Amino acid sequence: MAFVITDPCIGTKDAACVDVCPVDCIHPRKDEPEFATTTILYIHPDECIDCGACVPPCPGAAIYDSPESTPDSQKVLIEGNAVYRAGDEAAVSQAEGIVAAHVAAHADLMSVAPAERAAAHAK
Ligand code: SF4
Ligand code: SF4
Repeated sequence: MAFVITDPCIGTKDAACVDVCPVDCIHPRKDEPEFATTTILYIHPDECIDCGACVPPCPGAAIYDSPESTPDSQKVLIEGNAVYRAGDEAAVSQAEGIVAAHVAAHADLMSVAPAERAAAHAK
């Protein structure tokens, strides 16, 4: 079990979650070189301790508390969170590829402002 970042992070990416995570399992941080180029942030599922601290500060309600609670439209991003590794170019590219495919498949969601996108996940 681990928390999962989903698509309201796209277009928001303010790193508010990073600032409160007690185990530094959300990447890229603003001080990591990948921050400038990644589309979204990722939670390392093996390092997340399921504390829930990242959820309240997220302005887009982008973070779900488990893969099981992640809506069907966002399930592919569970794998994106899982494969991302800071400093690993191939893993970063693979994760970003998963996000890019999600974006391409969900023009409907991408047309919604990030702050309202989570409300559209269940539709
Ligand atoms: S649930 Fe806790 S440990 Fe997991 S990503 Fe959020 S703040 Fe970090
Ligand atoms: S707080 Fe939410 S929108 Fe901001 S970076 Fe984290 S997951 Fe993305």
